[in-house]
Amino acid sequence: MKVLVINCGSSSLKYQLIDASTETALASGLCERIGIDGLLTHKVDGKKVKDEEKNPMPNHEVAVKLVLDALVDKDYGVITSLEEIGAIGHRVVHGGEHFASSVIINDEVEKAIEACNDLAPLHNPANLVGIKACRKVLPQVPMVAVFDTAFHQTMPEKAYLYGLPREYYDKYKIRRYGFHGTSHSFVSKRLAELAGLDIHNSKLIVCHIGNGGSVTAVKNGKSVDTSMGLTPLEGIIMGTRSGSLDPAIVEFIAHKENKTIEEVMTVLNKKSGLAGMSGLTSDFRDLRKGKSEGNQLAAIAMDAFIYNIVKYVGAYAAAMNGVDAIAFTAGIGENAIEVRTGVMENLGYLGVEADLEACKQMGQEMMVSTKDSKVKVFIVPTNEELAIARETKALL
Ligand code: AMP
Repeated sequence: MKVLVINCGSSSLKYQLIDASTETALASGLCERIGIDGLLTHKVDGKKVKDEEKNPMPNHEVAVKLVLDALVDKDYGVITSLEEIGAIGHRVVHGGEHFASSVIINDEVEKAIEACNDLAPLHNPANLVGIKACRKVLPQVPMVAVFDTAFHQTMPEKAYLYGLPREYYDKYKIRRYGFHGTSHSFVSKRLAELAGLDIHNSKLIVCHIGNGGSVTAVKNGKSVDTSMGLTPLEGIIMGTRSGSLDPAIVEFIAHKENKTIEEVMTVLNKKSGLAGMSGLTSDFRDLRKGKSEGNQLAAIAMDAFIYNIVKYVGAYAAAMNGVDAIAFTAGIGENAIEVRTGVMENLGYLGVEADLEACKQMGQEMMVSTKDSKVKVFIVPTNEELAIARETKALL
């Protein structure tokens, strides 16, 4: 079965056509600037075959049609007919408490996703637009919604409840939801295989460290705690997000800077993290360059970033009363050697022994702890699109 995986943003649409039997990506691409002018990049075998060119994309429906045209194009298409698309898997950011697993999309599911819009106002409406556009253009193709939050629905109350008056949970469902669930699920399964562990009898920690980042404790195959919360703002320091801080800081900044709550939230989401601390960049590679050129603030931001991850790993080892294996994944986790070594250096007390030579490798699946290390540590490249295709195939 060929599965089209769609990840829709408010003005963008990422796609990948995956042969779910061989688990290979046949084509991938990105529509950008939807509603502005329109830019489509289409890749086959990872190589760009259709140059970025202006395609008027007044809305997502037109973007979906352009993607389908590209997939069946006689020069650079990868299928001869749209009938070859057996299913569509949609990434949906927030499933609230409605969805603890992926679901086949119907009108009722659409409504339930819409009911979660309050919880992810930037993401869910965009995901829904993508779903509606695909259902309109390909009404006969079955579609599945795969939620970023679903994997974390196994967290116990003690992990997901905040120390707030109960009524806020009862009335508004304010609680920890967690994100990157598709990645944490995919990576934890693979980590157990690589470490030779029975996932149903294992204590794993997954560090998904990209521009956004979260750390998850996975016990016996289930998420039992995770660093992101009601929204993806909580947790470790990220590219532009502050991560966890004293909530009183919001009011303090608002008073001092004469800003509204909304304006302060924009600062915390878009102008903080590595970008805000360094005053330089949110991109780890540029931060590294800044540090090597003697930029003190870049060095401090990097130190704080690593220190934060160390603290979460320690907290989750404590929460599970031990840890058998740890994975690093996503852009920084897979590639930034100094982050991996910086974190591992501080985990000796848990029985982590870094293989300093292996640690210099990057970007590929491999063990970076010694073979005698009590806790095994691996780089496990994440593949959220493949995970969505697998879920879609499994459900149908
Ligand atoms: P992601 O959000 O998973 O795409 O990750 C993006 C982050 O990964 C950015 O901060 C990049 O600078 C970082 N990144 C990508 N490649 C490397 C690399 N070779 N070394 C260090 N950081 C990298």
